[in-house]
Amino acid sequence: MNRIRTKWRGCRAIVTVFFLGIATTTVCGRAEEIYPRANAVETMQSLAGSLDQTYAAFFPALNAVLPASTRFRLERSLANVDTALSAYALADLHGARAQELALAASDEEAAGEEIVDRADMALTVGDYARCERLAQTLAQLARDTGSERLRMHAEVFLGVLDRRHGNLDGASSHQHQALELARALGDESASSRALAHLGTVNRDRGDFAQALDLQLQSLAIGEKIDDRTELTYRNLALLYRELGDEAASKQYFDKAIAAAERNGDPSHYATVYGSYSSFLNDTHDYAAALDAARETLALDQVLNDRPAAAFEELESGRALLGLKRFDEAGVSLDAALAAGRAINQREIVARSLLALAEISLTRGDRARARDLLDQAQNGLDATRMKPQLAQAYALREQLAAADGNASSALDYAHKYAALREDLLGTTTSRQLAALEARHARADAEQKLALANEANALQAARLEQQRLQRAFGIAVIAALALLLAVVIWRWLDMGRLNRALNARNAQIEQQRSALTDANQRLERQTSELYQAAITDPLTGAFNRGHLLRDLDRRIADCARDGRELALLMIDFDHFKRINDTRGHIFGDRVLVAGVHTIRQWLEPDALFGRFGGEEFLIAIQDQGIDAVREFANRLRVRVAEDLSNLASESRNYATISIGIATLAQIPPPARLEDLLEAADQAVYAAKRAGRDRVVYYAA
Ligand code: GH3
Ligand code: MG
Ligand code: MG
Repeated sequence: MNRIRTKWRGCRAIVTVFFLGIATTTVCGRAEEIYPRANAVETMQSLAGSLDQTYAAFFPALNAVLPASTRFRLERSLANVDTALSAYALADLHGARAQELALAASDEEAAGEEIVDRADMALTVGDYARCERLAQTLAQLARDTGSERLRMHAEVFLGVLDRRHGNLDGASSHQHQALELARALGDESASSRALAHLGTVNRDRGDFAQALDLQLQSLAIGEKIDDRTELTYRNLALLYRELGDEAASKQYFDKAIAAAERNGDPSHYATVYGSYSSFLNDTHDYAAALDAARETLALDQVLNDRPAAAFEELESGRALLGLKRFDEAGVSLDAALAAGRAINQREIVARSLLALAEISLTRGDRARARDLLDQAQNGLDATRMKPQLAQAYALREQLAAADGNASSALDYAHKYAALREDLLGTTTSRQLAALEARHARADAEQKLALANEANALQAARLEQQRLQRAFGIAVIAALALLLAVVIWRWLDMGRLNRALNARNAQIEQQRSALTDANQRLERQTSELYQAAITDPLTGAFNRGHLLRDLDRRIADCARDGRELALLMIDFDHFKRINDTRGHIFGDRVLVAGVHTIRQWLEPDALFGRFGGEEFLIAIQDQGIDAVREFANRLRVRVAEDLSNLASESRNYATISIGIATLAQIPPPARLEDLLEAADQAVYAAKRAGRDRVVYYAA
């Protein structure tokens, strides 16, 4: 879509005049129109049609008299004008002719540029098969000519197609290649886009920290060169929505909408506003979501943007579902599902199926809900789209509960919880990604400060180039548009001054936005770390963290010849507690037991959940007698506190403790051996009748 935007800027003059024209027409009697933006685009497209007819009338004569190079430039310019007027079919026609003329003149690079534009438009209108063919042609041309630029563009297209078809690994690998090539070519605009595409792939995978890092990197470049910032703001808004940070999401949406309105590109406006309707749905503002989705749908239909139209149908359906207008919701969602299947875009298909399943559940049609969930989950398991998979588990839990199948409901509740935990970032690698993101931020901030001064000059230069380009194109369209261009030039002088002033203000905004992003990132990193090492039920350290820390302590003590005692605690007859009093009660016993244990632990002791109802304590530098005495006191206190939970009998819930020390296991000191020894001691305690402490007999 990138290059179309560049063309768009060049021809903005023409469009400005037509928006003015539309405003006048509306005032003069078309006030009944509901969606002025969609109408304006329609009018631009009909103008493109008239221009094209005029050209077609002269075409054979021109063909005979003009040299091939001039005909190439003419076709090229017509394609640019048609693109700017959102008339993509005509633009493709002229682009294809220009491509042929360039190939006939053996100018492969120019032919490649035409293919890039045409593939871009095929993406916009959701004709993925055509886009794929053009991308393959482009890749072949890149191989034949050794052009790295063309190869970079081909990689971007193949990556976008892979993602839309749900092949996230393929998408990631193509976009990585594109990024490498863009960096090698020093093409900042392409780097920024490849980073944004990679960010989106990571969001689909549920790797939010990585996605955030990539989008912020993309934004830093985009803001520096003032390129498509509205789309990156929107990507960030979507990401913060996934992270559950509504305030940040809303802030980025506001920025995205302001930027889209300032730049005036109808297709960008539609992308941003369509996503905003999805945000409104997520925040339960269904009436506003419905309005936004319907306005955007009208625009998408005029632009013939099929993927976006399918998303808008989906959001309309979700809004209607929220408004409890189930019949209408069903119609919209069926339309979204059909459109998603027609262009084979997995995310749309999966999300439509999930929303339809929700309607069926609400209506009590469990058989249909199950069928829809089965269909949705098929795609999700294969594509690893974790956020949607989590939603599917949540619906499955509801379904199982409605079926009265408690154990299956519990099973899905666990799956849902595990996936949410995974999504919110519980792995060390994700932590590292967040930390790296912070360093990258600091780096970008420094570069931005350096670029500030150069930026004002560059802005003036860019503005001048833009004027020149616009003027060149306007001459070609002069037959129809002479008067319009004169008016526009007069208007644009004023705009140039305002744009420079606005840019200074933007630089200030960017600075404060970067500071905000840094602070947020720092906060999230520490939250992610806590979540990563904690067992969600009891709040004790989880198994992963516990064993890593224990392993380190064993190595330290073995090296320095210090003593270390390991206490393995196992709750007695826990199955029976679950069976007689229920699983939830069992959970309460575990939580209360952990609470008591923590009260009596020395601050330097290590304590965590080993698994199930088994826990470990590591105590250093204490003689065995002191450790045994401590274990016995702990056993008695836990039993006392747990007896408060159940009134029936005093020793309702008890624990057995096995102790093994480092000195007892033969060198080299290994974690597994110490665990095995403590486990044997617990086993001996169980055999001897439970509710006791046993010291390992080496
Ligand atoms: P023993 O005295 O021999 O240890 O008997 P036990 O019943 O405790 O036997 P075992 O250790 O084999 O069983 C542990 C049970 O603890 C099995 C499992 O259902 C239950 N359990 C494991 N994790 C949890 C949990 O998080 N919450 C609840 N409520 N129960 C759990
Ligand atoms: Mg056990
Ligand atoms: Mg047990």
